[in-house]
Amino acid sequence: VARPTAAVLVTGSEILLGLTRDRNSGFLGRGLDALGIDLRRVLTVGDAEEDLARALGELRLHDLIVTSGGLGPTHDDRTVAVVAAVAGVPLVLHEPTLEAIRERTAIFARQRGLDPESFVAGNRKQALVPEGADVLGPVGTAPGLLVELGPSLCVVLPGPPSELERLWRVLPERPAFAALLERAGHLQRRMLRVFGQSESAVADAFAAAGGDGGGTLTTICARRLEIEILIRAEPSKESAFERLLAGLRERLGTAIYAEDERPLEAHVVERLHARGWTAATAESCTGGLVAARLTEVPGASDVLLGGVVAYANEVKRDVLGVPDALLRDVGAVSADAAKAMAEGVRRVTRADAGVAVTGIAGPDGGTPEKPVGLVYLHVSSPAGDAARRIVFPGARTDVQQWAATTALHMLRQAAAG
Ligand code: ATP
Repeated sequence: VARPTAAVLVTGSEILLGLTRDRNSGFLGRGLDALGIDLRRVLTVGDAEEDLARALGELRLHDLIVTSGGLGPTHDDRTVAVVAAVAGVPLVLHEPTLEAIRERTAIFARQRGLDPESFVAGNRKQALVPEGADVLGPVGTAPGLLVELGPSLCVVLPGPPSELERLWRVLPERPAFAALLERAGHLQRRMLRVFGQSESAVADAFAAAGGDGGGTLTTICARRLEIEILIRAEPSKESAFERLLAGLRERLGTAIYAEDERPLEAHVVERLHARGWTAATAESCTGGLVAARLTEVPGASDVLLGGVVAYANEVKRDVLGVPDALLRDVGAVSADAAKAMAEGVRRVTRADAGVAVTGIAGPDGGTPEKPVGLVYLHVSSPAGDAARRIVFPGARTDVQQWAATTALHMLRQAAAG
């Protein structure tokens, strides 16, 4: 039996105009995959009725359509009316929903000192549902809906991400959705995370390992300075899946630093922990980002002792002990300064490993010898020293993020031994 296919329809002119960044399709993409449903398409349309209707018509070849947005009380919230029209059913008033919305808007009106009468028309509009629909919630003031659209099931969800996410979680309890899930099937899935190799080297390794010839479904994506190889396969293709994994491991070796989807920071903390090391950071152009990212990991306090944001030369000198002469002669953005910062933070915190970042994040401050994006990184640890000089292209925040990511990888590599 084929897995059910799905399409996501994101609605809202504010998304087309770039005023709101779409968060719902990503959430739904992950959610559908976790349920074993095959997402084939994501379509974004504005609020115009004909665009919504045409999109729904087009997407009806899928077993499931999930829509986001357009359930509000205003004239440009048209999703429910269009879904009813496409389903060929009238809109009917859903009394329990009207009651729930009335209660919510009454509280809201009281809290804000607004006239409750001003909500009457909007409440009624939001309680109109296509005849025969299964009504979810509401969690905000708009209910979610399950509507049969010919051969496909249409799940209508509100736009605010928190409301959409809460209603999404109750869907498997609803009979029409549960029926679809009976045909769902999980793919085997493995993420290989590669650091320190080019995309083309990874592409070559993938081809040499046989590629998707055995029926696997692989995506290779460069992201955050790493290359993610996501391999998926139907359960019947298990041997091809294992063969491809083995082929990639053989060719890429230790460049594969992880085979899961946990954040890099979690791997750094884990490696430090396994090594029995503590660490500290000395950061100039990243302003504490490396330390902040490490503290996102629960349990980071076991390994991270602290960090110094040494932005000014005086702080590099007075707190980290970077010699004045060094700062004067070779400058704060230099390999020597990075080394002295890493050693200095090790000394003052008594951490096993010190990691330092110093560079020019831009947009100003670059020179021909030291251009914007130039970053020196240094790790000083019981395993020895590791140093890098990199010129990152891009805007200030990109340079900072990339530098922090590189620092984290260097710390991970040092702890990996
Ligand atoms: P409401 O009942 O709150 O009006 P709605 O279903 O009508 O909900 P919209 O009017 O389309 O939803 O959007 C309401 C708000 O939700 C938007 O201002 C926006 O902040 C957010 N939102 C809508 N769609 C998305 C999306 N795809 N990604 C992120 N945020 C979104």
